[in-house]
Amino acid sequence: MTASKARANFIRDIIDKDLKTDKYEGRVHTRFPPEPNGFLHIGHAKSICLNFGVAADYKGLCNLRFDDTNPETEEISYVESIKSDMKWLGFDWRDREFYASDYFDKLYECAIQLINKGKAYVCDLSPEEVSKYRGTVTEPGKDSPYRGRSAEENLDLFGRMKKGEFEDASRTLRAKIDMRSPHMIMRDPPLYRIKKASHYRKGDQWCLYPMYDFAHCISDSVEGITHSLCTLEFENNRPLYDWILKGLDIYRPQQIEFARLNLSYTVLSKRKLLQLVEGKHVSGWDDPRMPTLSGLRRRGYTQGSIRNFCDEIGIAKFNSIIDINVLENSIRAELNRTAPRVMAVLRPLKVVITNYPLDKEEGLDAINNPEDHGMGTRKVPFSRELYIEREDFQEDPHRKFYRLSPGREVRLRYAYYIKCVDVIKDEKTGEVKEIHCTYDPATKGGDSPDGRKVKATLHWVSACHALEAEVRLYEELFTKRDPEEGEGGDFKSNLNPNSLEVLRSCRIEPGLKKAKPGSRYQFERKGYFCVDSADPSDGKPVFNRIVSLRDTWAKIEKKK
Ligand code: ATP
Ligand code: MG
Repeated sequence: MTASKARANFIRDIIDKDLKTDKYEGRVHTRFPPEPNGFLHIGHAKSICLNFGVAADYKGLCNLRFDDTNPETEEISYVESIKSDMKWLGFDWRDREFYASDYFDKLYECAIQLINKGKAYVCDLSPEEVSKYRGTVTEPGKDSPYRGRSAEENLDLFGRMKKGEFEDASRTLRAKIDMRSPHMIMRDPPLYRIKKASHYRKGDQWCLYPMYDFAHCISDSVEGITHSLCTLEFENNRPLYDWILKGLDIYRPQQIEFARLNLSYTVLSKRKLLQLVEGKHVSGWDDPRMPTLSGLRRRGYTQGSIRNFCDEIGIAKFNSIIDINVLENSIRAELNRTAPRVMAVLRPLKVVITNYPLDKEEGLDAINNPEDHGMGTRKVPFSRELYIEREDFQEDPHRKFYRLSPGREVRLRYAYYIKCVDVIKDEKTGEVKEIHCTYDPATKGGDSPDGRKVKATLHWVSACHALEAEVRLYEELFTKRDPEEGEGGDFKSNLNPNSLEVLRSCRIEPGLKKAKPGSRYQFERKGYFCVDSADPSDGKPVFNRIVSLRDTWAKIEKKK
């Protein structure tokens, strides 16, 4: 993206001002700091596009930094998935791949410095006592009885904490700030905790781990970050960010907060997405219903559509919920231009054209993309037995049903006018098994020379030529716009039981035999679909519906 294309926002305003005043010697250096405790989601894409976008626009740099200071939840497999998702999105951090865990020695040294400066102390209060001493928003806190320890005693205890002499959570290192501060975060927050857990990169080297607030600002400082962009929840932590760096008297980047992305009908939190995976509510992190980048990719979203979406929603200072339609429209707009059209029948109903010769077949010309005639045409086989969509036929049509019904004529797209002359039913169940029609050979190509009008155009496939396929239709994962809403706020109670519908005996055009995993099509009248990249089911191709169509068909009808 070039600077001219970039949207103005308050962050760019700040950077412009900083460049004018030469605050960081003309440098712009950002970072994207994921914790490797899950897969990236679309909210992270917003942060990636912002951080890398700003760096690129100002000819600056952007680091990838794994914020890996919680040994219990982090894994190397998450590091790998994060890197591959970022590459897929099209961002390149080159050799600037950093890990907060590589700063553990440095962070420990910084803690010692704070102790020496009388700015940190070892506290023996239990977690319950700590929260009791903390006070509330309206009441001041109380000093810990251990607050007055000498630097020598603190250094000795802190060293022994590192050696593993004490139990988990029995002691913490705390910043010595002000238990009466109106900012709760400044009431002697913990800087280090004891946790006898193996770290995925550092093994059992440490049993003392830095808190996020301590690790993050120092990591930013060490890397020479200029603008540390984070989400609004961290606004309250900013005074602590500044306090720590000032206390250590080291280089101080500025933290700037922006609104996180919330999307309707889904949750954007790795912790919650993990619950969906572990509870088997979805098939994995890359389930096509997941708002993860790997899920969206498997569903059929392109890099471009996600980047355009992030660009379009912009950067603001106030939280809001973005409608899922905005994301869907971004892929629709792209695929409308690029996806070849094909015919696929999702719920087949057999049609026999009784006046069409038994062993005749012909190839009819179909347009690959009416939005792009450069994409050419193809031949679609037509024969005596076809499939149409079960829902396109009604024996007793209701008043506004204009499609096929007994005695009525409709157009088969690119083919002929057909008229229903008979309905064959299962004797026992009464279910419609097939319908018999006659065709008018004079209407070849789908137009009637005598100007006779029909009210509907149906898609179809030739029964003996069609391929069988499995199609997966998706609805939103949750039934509520804000899944946290409702009793107890447990988002899982708002899961949509109908979020996945699997159709196993769909029939698609034979030309799709060569369709490669990840390729995208518009199934006429049915939406945009992507060949699943996981294993095909029983050797049949599997298609995921990316998104339904909107109005596209109505336009085609008007043109006719
Ligand atoms: P999660 O709750 O999903 O784990 P997080 O903020 O804890 O989110 P991190 O891995 O720490 O996840 O996030 C890396 C970066 O991505 C952070 O700078 C964070 O602010 C940003 N980020 C995370 N979620 C969103 C979101 N929904 N919208 C915008 N930015 C986000
Ligand atoms: Mg986090």
